[in-house]
Amino acid sequence: MSEFINIHSHQTESSASSIINCYPAEIEQFVQQHPTQMCSVGLHPWHINEQYEQELEIVARFAFSPQVVAIGEAGLDKLTETPFPLQQAVFLQQTAIAEKVQKPLIIHCVKAYSKIIQLKKELNPQSTWIIHGFRGKASIAQELIQHDFCLSFGKGLIYLENTICSVPLEKVFLETDDSPNDIEQVYETFSKTRPVSMEILKDQVNKNFEEIFQNRILC
Ligand SMILES: [Zn+2]
Repeated sequence: MSEFINIHSHQTESSASSIINCYPAEIEQFVQQHPTQMCSVGLHPWHINEQYEQELEIVARFAFSPQVVAIGEAGLDKLTETPFPLQQAVFLQQTAIAEKVQKPLIIHCVKAYSKIIQLKKELNPQSTWIIHGFRGKASIAQELIQHDFCLSFGKGLIYLENTICSVPLEKVFLETDDSPNDIEQVYETFSKTRPVSMEILKDQVNKNFEEIFQNRILC
């Protein structure tokens, strides 16, 4: 039976089919306390500080953990104060980590799609790049899909009808991010908005997950 896969959650008490987002400072304790829970680890562009080199080392170290099924969230954000060149340097290092361990990269991207696409073209990574919390227009979604990105939807789904109707389901993931909502609600909204039956949607997201998160652990 297929599950409600949630590829990005900040709620530690999420279900076994959720990937819990951890920051470098949290990851060691998290894997000790939740030894069977899938998680991701990454340095978010909002939280890059003087310790970023040590934090990247933590990401690189924990990237090998079987519990860590993805790298991220990492990314580029034109609206945050962190200098953009520094964001790019930190992002590039995390793309290299994802390549090294061959795990997907969960990307936070704000007003920097053309840069992210350019980097993907230059680097030609084997690991899948997933834009999380995607809330862009259908035209941006199309461009990203053309460059083989996956898109993960969560917040604001009901306002994204055009986008949701235009993306191939093979490229779709769903997430709760930092909202307290259940992942079931996110699936329901997507299913009604597109529209697509819940069964088909769940089966397809499960398939996408199996294909892209090959290093996942089964809990
Ligand atoms: Zn997040």
